[in-house]
Amino acid sequence: MTERLNANKTHDDLIADWTANAEKHEEKNYQFLRNLKRNCTSFENVDRIALELHQEAFSIVDCTRCANCCKTMPVIVNDEDIARITEHLGMAPEEFVAAYLDKDEKENRYRIRTVPCPFLGEDNKCKIYDVRPRACKGYPYTEKDFLRSTIYHTSNAVICPAVFYIVEQMKKRMRRS
Ligand code: SF4
Ligand code: SF4
Repeated sequence: MTERLNANKTHDDLIADWTANAEKHEEKNYQFLRNLKRNCTSFENVDRIALELHQEAFSIVDCTRCANCCKTMPVIVNDEDIARITEHLGMAPEEFVAAYLDKDEKENRYRIRTVPCPFLGEDNKCKIYDVRPRACKGYPYTEKDFLRSTIYHTSNAVICPAVFYIVEQMKKRMRRS
């Protein structure tokens, strides 16, 4: 059974907690996540808890009242993303690249050039949601394989209120187990 620890927590509560504490807890969260990965005896158990917390976090947080990821992170875009998005927009791929992307020569991939993302609408909704980059679709990588991305969860907890919530609740669960 999924245990909802914070049944009465609202979006505003979660955002207030994140605003007050995310940066303050960054170092402790880094240590916690590193030790969780190092000492873990059951990745399956951590993944199960992470999925519960992911669902709980996103039942509280309203992404359209946040959009902090789209406002602050330069998004990675691959060739498949470019093909899908340009077909949707009716643009030539090279026109799209010139208009929106920078090439990361070292990594041989592209990033959206500007933040906030040019595809973020004034209503905080993605204007290309159905064809958005794979990196956006997967964000914040807390739904599965939680321990594979621990280094990202540390920095994402500062960017994303939902990740901060998940990490904080994970700490509580682990203290009790
Ligand atoms: S930063 Fe997190 S909570 Fe905010 S919009 Fe992005 S995914 Fe949703
Ligand atoms: S493409 Fe859409 S989901 Fe991705 S960063 Fe831009 S606005 Fe956000």
